[in-house]
Amino acid sequence: MDAAVPNKLLDLAVQSLLSNESAAIQALEDIPRELFVPLFIAAFKGRHRNILSAMVKVWPFYCLHIGSLSIQEAHHELLKAMIENLPVCPAQNSSPRRPKLRILDLRQVTYSRITCREVSTKSPLCFHSCAYSDHSITKIEGHLRLGNSGFETQSLRPVELLVELFLDGSLLQKEFLDLLMGKVEESSGSLHVCCRDLHVDKLCNYKCTLKFLDLKYVDQFSVVKGFLSDINCILSQMAHLQSLSLFKVFFRSLRKKDFKNFLSHLHQMENLKELNLASFYLKNHLEKVLKFVPPGLDFLCLPFCNLSSRDYQFLSQSPQATHLKLLNLSNNTMYWNDLEPICTLLVNLSGMLLYLELNNCFISDSARMYKGGMRDEWETHKE
Ligand SMILES: [Zn+2]
Ligand SMILES: [Zn+2]
Repeated sequence: MDAAVPNKLLDLAVQSLLSNESAAIQALEDIPRELFVPLFIAAFKGRHRNILSAMVKVWPFYCLHIGSLSIQEAHHELLKAMIENLPVCPAQNSSPRRPKLRILDLRQVTYSRITCREVSTKSPLCFHSCAYSDHSITKIEGHLRLGNSGFETQSLRPVELLVELFLDGSLLQKEFLDLLMGKVEESSGSLHVCCRDLHVDKLCNYKCTLKFLDLKYVDQFSVVKGFLSDINCILSQMAHLQSLSLFKVFFRSLRKKDFKNFLSHLHQMENLKELNLASFYLKNHLEKVLKFVPPGLDFLCLPFCNLSSRDYQFLSQSPQATHLKLLNLSNNTMYWNDLEPICTLLVNLSGMLLYLELNNCFISDSARMYKGGMRDEWETHKE
């Protein structure tokens, strides 16, 4: 039998459902589970808001991930509709097909399937569920199993909503945040909004908003414009960061409390793989920063950091810079003497480094000649 035939029939079934919205919504009670994933993908791509809203209510699997589906601005209405219709109070749902959805993942990631493969229908599993928050499904159900009080009702049905947030002051983001807060309120404690990626533009505008978010599982955090004291407050809640990017951060001095607190937070970040400090005045203090991050960083970006000869010297010998795949030292002045430690570093990284940026470092003609020699040495080393 031609292998293409079943796919064609499936496509025809999906297209036929999408061509009549009200019939499709009614059919959701009866169609086989196997049709849900292809129908969801087609409905999302075709922006069938009503069908998606109805599907979330009766989704027959434990989790639902947007995954690699492309999210353009026009798709935000779909995401909002899915949140609005996410069942967080089972009593409200009158559908004969009881909602099984417990984890709605609205992050755009390339590696995720629409729903995780089911190993067992009795105790389903999602590979992306929250592992750290006290409000996660795992923790709450663990408490309920042990019969711990603290959770008032045994009928509590915890649900997780996985999001990435780009707080840039736009109306779109404001509406999205308002929706999230409203949904948390509606859930009476059963919904955990789990923020994994958090990007904040002008942190001072979001200090109150961030208080409602549980930030334990954030693995990527970036701030453009903010006071280091405020950033420290947030970092104190994030022990599992993999990527930290700070642009235009204000603090009084490298000798004061705020910088010392920042270093102690860095010290807690055992999983940190990417560090990007742009326009972060570090002259003669790179040593302190690198001593507090775990060894084996993948990405290190330090543009506009006013690095000194002492900093380059330390960087060339630092165990934190032995596995770098990306190094960006642009917009820091380099003198003749600085090229020797930089050369040593590049030779040491020759088997690993994939991307190097040294723009606007004021390398003079004589230094470029040195750089030519450095390249020869690097090439020889690679051979
Ligand atoms: Zn899953
Ligand atoms: Zn969480």
